[in-house]
Amino acid sequence: MRSVAVQNNSLWRALCDTFESIQKERIRAGNRLNMIFKGADETEELRIRILSRLEELERVEEGLEKDLKKILKEHPVYTSFLRYVKGVGPLLSIRLLALPLDINKNISSWWAYFGLVPFHYVAKCENGHGLILSKERGICPVCQSPIVSIEKVNGALRRKKGLKGFWNRQARKIAYLLGEQFVKIGERGYYGRAYRRFKERQPQDLQPIRRDARARRLTVKLFLSHLHECMRELND
Ligand SMILES: [Zn+2]
Repeated sequence: MRSVAVQNNSLWRALCDTFESIQKERIRAGNRLNMIFKGADETEELRIRILSRLEELERVEEGLEKDLKKILKEHPVYTSFLRYVKGVGPLLSIRLLALPLDINKNISSWWAYFGLVPFHYVAKCENGHGLILSKERGICPVCQSPIVSIEKVNGALRRKKGLKGFWNRQARKIAYLLGEQFVKIGERGYYGRAYRRFKERQPQDLQPIRRDARARRLTVKLFLSHLHECMRELND
């Protein structure tokens, strides 16, 4: 069986970034132009001409999207799983597949890599390295020496100056985007319904914002465990 290990990671990411920045700028520039020229009849012709130039950018986006889809069509994880997941489109799929995910690691390591932990620890090793850890036990990931002080922190993960975090920035961003998508897709998709169920199961006295955050985290974790399973099967 051919390996599902991903190559060209940074190239794929660059393709996504290019697509997204062109799209964003096209929309922003269009809005700006419409504002500037609003109601001014004598500039109507010029406005239309510039807007049609911007439309050419749409063609560029379409081309880039075609390239993305072509890559995905050849990726077994996409063709056998991701393409069927409602809420996960080509861009998000390729961002996920561009991550250097290690299928030999267990699912808890994946969750930590995506920053999906209910709490974390701020610690210091024997050599003075400041760390943010996902587990209470372990050694310093920088110098492999023992941990000398550790403190449990409830609440959101935050990058802190001088502290080495355990999660991956790209992965965490993707986890956030996945959560957004699953909430948006709602009853129309499996993970949207999973989100609703997870939310219902949270204690009723919990603040709505906390219930939402927990349900999102659990839903994305569920999705990742399925992705993990799929990648392992394909690599077997
Ligand atoms: Zn250290």
